[in-house]
Order: sequence, then C-alpha cells, then structure tokens
Amino acid sequence: MMLMIPIKIQCGCGQRYAFNVEPICGRMPSQIACPVCGSDGTIAANEVIAYDLAARQSTHDDGRTGVMVFAVMGCMIAGLVGVLKAFTMSGGVDVLLCLLGATTAFGMALCVYFWKR
Ligand SMILES: [Zn+2]
Repeated sequence: MMLMIPIKIQCGCGQRYAFNVEPICGRMPSQIACPVCGSDGTIAANEVIAYDLAARQSTHDDGRTGVMVFAVMGCMIAGLVGVLKAFTMSGGVDVLLCLLGATTAFGMALCVYFWKR
C-alpha cells in the first residue's frame, strides 16, 4: 500500500519545512530534523501522520469508525499520561522520553488498528 502523506512542520526556531512520507505502521520510517537548527521534528511529524490517517479513516471507512475512535481514545489517554508525567518531571531528557512514550503509544494503537483490517 503506497500512501504518501504530506507533512508540514513549524519548527520551534520559526522555520517551516514540508516533505512527503510513506508512514510505516502509522509512524515516520526515519527521523526528521529541522534543516535550519537541526532540532528533531520526528514527534511532530508522527502527530501529523496520526491525524492524517485518522482523517482518512473517518472519511473513507465508515464501518471501522468505532474501532478508530476507540484507538484514538486510548492514544489520547496515553498522551495525557505522558503530558502529566512531563509536567511533574524537571529534566528535559525525561520530558522528551515521556513524549516519545506517548507518541509510541499513539503509533501502537494505530498499528493494532491496521493489523486487524
Ligand atoms: Zn528549527
């Protein structure tokens, strides 16, 4: 299944960059970095992919919407836990790991969804 998703990222440094990607299991197949400051844009890209896939599902696949809602709900809860953890931690690396964990949970839920198709 070839599915190229256009990604547009607004970096923290103010630089905008865009590219197309074929997601693997609802996630970026490789890391992406800002062309100007070099800061990691993979997490932002994964979020764009997740939203794009969710939007595609809701418009093209009516029968599976309930499953998708369930998956998204699980993702939101996982993401919320990640954010809460990030707030209670002081270290920047720990915050990053938490966000990474939340994003992974997001990808996992999407992965399970596509696996059952
Ligand atoms: Zn940047």
